[in-house]
Amino acid sequence: MLTGMQIAVIGGDARQLEIIRKLTELDARLSLIGFEQLDHAFTGAVKEKLDEVDFSNIDAMILPVAGTNLEGQVETIFSNEKVVLTEDILSKTPEHCTIYSGITNSYLDGIVKQSKKKLVQLFARDDVAIYNSIPTVEGTIMMAIQHTDFTIHGSNVTVLGLGRCGMSIARAFHALGAKVKVGARRSEHLARITEMGLKPFHLDDTEKEVTDTDILINTIPLLIVTPAVIAKLPTHTLVIDIASKPGGTDFRYAEKRGIKALLAPSLPGIVAPKTAGQILADVLTQLLRESGQNRKGNA
Ligand code: NAP
Repeated sequence: MLTGMQIAVIGGDARQLEIIRKLTELDARLSLIGFEQLDHAFTGAVKEKLDEVDFSNIDAMILPVAGTNLEGQVETIFSNEKVVLTEDILSKTPEHCTIYSGITNSYLDGIVKQSKKKLVQLFARDDVAIYNSIPTVEGTIMMAIQHTDFTIHGSNVTVLGLGRCGMSIARAFHALGAKVKVGARRSEHLARITEMGLKPFHLDDTEKEVTDTDILINTIPLLIVTPAVIAKLPTHTLVIDIASKPGGTDFRYAEKRGIKALLAPSLPGIVAPKTAGQILADVLTQLLRESGQNRKGNA
């Protein structure tokens, strides 16, 4: 149980509702910031505005998967109000208050450091990222179906990156009957791609390898689908870029060449918010229990 814990849940999408449901079931007390348009009420959770919260009582703060943007703004789909997380707010929280976010950026890292708080990045954990790759794959398949007039079965699919998402995506498209090749830079990844029955290539050879690609799926969070790569794609290729914003594709050049290239953020939140929220809620519960026990142990 999380009895006695006071937690601020700041912004987010439908995934956050599963977190709120689970934490209130476990008897935590929640301040919900950026949820005033949410019709549903949860026993033990109070909707508040940022300036109404007594941060000196907050044991943990839960941010959306994206954390904040580079100006500190937190995405709030259940509110029209602008919610900005500042160093001043974090400094008001007790020393033990931990901030939980999916990913981080230089702004969030900066205010956490200045306020001497601890940040836990949930997606830095392999277990969370691998579970989360399941709805991500389903979202990628949905986009491929929606934006092409040919079947995945029999098509040439190129996946860039063999990380937690790349591996799941490559395996699922292969299982659907696509001819899948995967680009990676590490020799052990090239070996794994071969072991999976797929065609490996080194990322240095991407330009050469994409000339027959029907669907190009990028999972690498840096500019990798460059103008030089795009110039080699057939004009009918669909590019689906799932890497975190701003993605790894030169979208301007793709548009200039008439190639459909889509940045596809937050797929789990779109196709399976309940499952994606449950994945986060399960790990958060475990972490919050551990932090509560540690504090009792230290008291
Ligand atoms: P990951 O396990 O860290 O995989 C990242 C991949 O990118 C690895 O193959 C890695 O190769 C490669 N990479 C990183 N830096 C590179 C570089 N400088 N040069 C060449 N390759 C490089 O991450 P993940 O969990 O699969 O997630 C991939 C991306 O998708 C992330 O940006 C994540 O935020 C995003 N994501 C998006 C969604 C969505 O809904 N759109 C959902 C989940 C995740 P090495 O191992 O060789 O470094």
